[in-house]
Amino acid sequence: MAFDSDRIASDDAKYLWHPFTQMRDWHGEGAPVIVAAEGTTLIDADGNRYIDGVSSLWCNIHGHRHPYIDAAIKDQLDRVAHTTMLGLTHPLAVELAKRLVEIAPDGLARVFYSDSGSTSVEIALKIAFQYWQQKGGSASEKQRFITLEGAYHGDTLGSVSTSGIDLFHSLYKPLLFETIKARAGDGDHMERLLASHSEEVAAVIVEPLVQGAAGMLMHPPGYLARVRELCDLHGVLLICDEVATGFGRTGTMFACEQESVEPDLLCLAKGMSGGYLPLAATLSTEEIYEGFLGDYDEYRTFFHGHTYTGNPLACAAALASLDLFEEEGTLKNLAGKIDLLDGLLDPLSKHPNVAEVRRCGFMVGIELARDPEGGMPYPQEMRVGHRVSCEARERGVIIRPLGDVVILMPPLAIAESDLRRLVEVTVESIESVVEALPHEKEAFAIASAIGPRV
Ligand SMILES: *Cc1c(COP(=O)(O)O)cnc(C)c1O
Repeated sequence: MAFDSDRIASDDAKYLWHPFTQMRDWHGEGAPVIVAAEGTTLIDADGNRYIDGVSSLWCNIHGHRHPYIDAAIKDQLDRVAHTTMLGLTHPLAVELAKRLVEIAPDGLARVFYSDSGSTSVEIALKIAFQYWQQKGGSASEKQRFITLEGAYHGDTLGSVSTSGIDLFHSLYKPLLFETIKARAGDGDHMERLLASHSEEVAAVIVEPLVQGAAGMLMHPPGYLARVRELCDLHGVLLICDEVATGFGRTGTMFACEQESVEPDLLCLAKGMSGGYLPLAATLSTEEIYEGFLGDYDEYRTFFHGHTYTGNPLACAAALASLDLFEEEGTLKNLAGKIDLLDGLLDPLSKHPNVAEVRRCGFMVGIELARDPEGGMPYPQEMRVGHRVSCEARERGVIIRPLGDVVILMPPLAIAESDLRRLVEVTVESIESVVEALPHEKEAFAIASAIGPRV
């Protein structure tokens, strides 16, 4: 099929409102119109090819148009595309729940489906809250959450309340509930907070090992296990948000495994369907689940459910993705690619305009800085990270930064040659942008002339 990319772009500018996008400048950015894909390559309406360097926003695993996943979805399409989990069930939702319980950390025994990372977090928060309410007595005082500074748990109001990224979230403050903020990665601080607040705290929520949207911030080894211990000690639930880290992203199926942590509630989404269709799950322990059983007049039901919850096509994709993890040895192959990636990134960490390269598995953040030695970031308004991604696009690579942290999150199935190319292009793009930047003093003048980032 032929696509008229100019026409699509002008209709896009006329009718669409894009996420996390300043629409005033959007049309001028000339974003590619993606019409097809092959493996880990995206193809635009003009036939240009791009390495999918951020896994189509952190979710693709085995590549696009994988014949096995495609066939599983088509097969289900010939049966039924969607029914409901309210009052009905279907075989794939059941089988997927069973498989998830089998591979998830021990103790997690029940699967509650939804359709995005944000909803999986909302559900975990509501379950944790309701669980303590229904325990009654002094447990009903447990109504608050301990959250980490710099956390990102999604864009709905509950998940925003538990997040801590000011740029996205401070405006909405009047709409949010207050949480107790822990310094990320600081076990002693968590210990003090729990010691003084445990009676009013329902749960601690963390992104295990890596805070993704904060710019790939790594927690020190042992932090997650310590938080688990402290939660146990103080009778507080632990919610692990593995929306970004789950399904192999950190090198193991789930990040929790690396510190042998068993959360009480586990949030899964992004990679769950292999990056094909919207699907999410909140896993809980049997103990929490049992807290919701009772007579009708006790009103212990979990009154929550989304229309497309447990969608059959998405479940088919998720089951096929789990099959591929086994059949293609995805995690085993990944180990070698992580070593390769380490080697490829090594020279970048010594680059004069790179403050730090942070990596956990296939999650990479390259923090750019004007003067790394002096700890000087670029003025935000210069949008250096954004410029790097524009440069990369010209060179056939799609990446998307978080501020001035260049993010690499390739599909786990990326070929070694494409992984090399991805890092090569990233380095070239950083160098090309940095060289073209005006002299330091002028840069500041330009930045203040442009004014604050909207
Ligand atoms: C992306 C993300 C979410 C939100 O998921 P959506 O599907 O975009 O709603 C929640 N938590 C973490 C850790 C994420 O990375």
